Amino acid sequence: PYNQILEIRKQNFSPQMSTYFQKPLLLHQGYMQWLFDYEGKRYLDLFSGIVTVSVGHCHPRVTTAAQNQFGRLWHTSPVFLHPAIHEYAEKLTALLPEPLKVVYFTNSGSEANDLAMMMARSHSQNVDIISFRGAYHGASPSTLGLTSVGAFKPRTTTGSNCQTTMCPDVFRGPWGGSQCRDSLVQTIRKCSCAPGCCEANSQYIEQFKNTLHTVVAKEIAGFFAEPIQGVNGVVQYPKGFLKEAFQLVRERGGVCIADEVQTGFGRLGTHFWGFQSHGVLPDIVTMAKGIANGFPMSAVVTTPEIAKSLTKSMNFFNTFSGNPIAGVIASAVLDAIKEDGLQENSQETGSYLLLKLAKLQNEFEIIGDVRGKGLMIGVEMVQDQESRQPLPLKEMNLIHEECKDMGLLLGRGGLFSQTFRIAPPMCITKEEADFAVEVFHSVLRRHME
Ligand code: PMP
Repeated sequence: PYNQILEIRKQNFSPQMSTYFQKPLLLHQGYMQWLFDYEGKRYLDLFSGIVTVSVGHCHPRVTTAAQNQFGRLWHTSPVFLHPAIHEYAEKLTALLPEPLKVVYFTNSGSEANDLAMMMARSHSQNVDIISFRGAYHGASPSTLGLTSVGAFKPRTTTGSNCQTTMCPDVFRGPWGGSQCRDSLVQTIRKCSCAPGCCEANSQYIEQFKNTLHTVVAKEIAGFFAEPIQGVNGVVQYPKGFLKEAFQLVRERGGVCIADEVQTGFGRLGTHFWGFQSHGVLPDIVTMAKGIANGFPMSAVVTTPEIAKSLTKSMNFFNTFSGNPIAGVIASAVLDAIKEDGLQENSQETGSYLLLKLAKLQNEFEIIGDVRGKGLMIGVEMVQDQESRQPLPLKEMNLIHEECKDMGLLLGRGGLFSQTFRIAPPMCITKEEADFAVEVFHSVLRRHME
């Protein structure tokens, strides 16, 4: 049906709905970390439907839970009670530290961040919200103002009263600071925290203060940050940056929001939530994607105090909020993460893969940086390691497509689409990580000939 589907797409979809690859993949089914096309060819999925299929495609436990619920009751709306979402709410809040104990259910990452913006404004009674350049927090009219990466640079629709500030990007930022990064790659490069990198952090903090003083009105409503930027190509901040930034925002009356849409649910390995790896405690946490393994669902968790101020200023309502299907699926996802040891596997297999990829840097001048945490890894491609100029799009596309032809699906990210993103279902094994590195290695070797 391949050509027919392409034709339907051409006739009925906006040309803006782009796909990966010159010859887009037509997928038929998936099982755990593997995807299969209509010809039965299999692919190791290193991108999980954009960092979403957290526990594996059609994970048996999750599928059974969904099937049982599909036969019973799909939808009630929040004006009726059903046990599924209550049981889930209890399980979810148990995974968050005090005082993050009040949960709201929504249906996408953008919706969750929309709600978080309203919370920040109602609680602080201020309007200005800031986020990093290169961040992705959503594509709704309001969150678009917080999003500024690649094609998503605000153009005609900009969320009002949203300001961006310089991203303390340890690889591309003006002051570097890569030694500061809390990453295993340090081990391989044998570098320790040099004096220069602490200076870099203080330069970034100065910039941040500058934004607070000059761009934002006197007081601030909130500050959004991804613990590691996903769409921007797995961008990490210097150690200690977020802690200082949170403090500065709070001093000016703002609340701090951790966008855990990509980093939550054990993906980073060492911690269940990305904010924990920065040693900070946010006032609001937003989550989506991996929460329900691909079923549309998202959530916002906040403090009783912030929830109270939201209640005073608006009546939150969402028809699909926490429907029974979403409740049982999300619950089964949490059980699978625990029972299959997926957070531990993210740590172990993620570190294993990161080190193997980092070693390739010695062989290939076009690998500029290998970074990340757990199973959220970025491989930034450059023209050469000295100039750090991004590898041209044409070459990126070729490498990407050749990996796909050899059965390996990678993601892409970064301002110039120059970073390969690796965020597989968290059940990937070391043998499969070996396969991924072998394919990548052979494609790069051919590319350099
Ligand atoms: N936050 C982050 C960190 C994201 O990566 C995304 C999606 N890429 C969103 C929010 C928005 O999620 P959605 O596409 O479900 O609206």
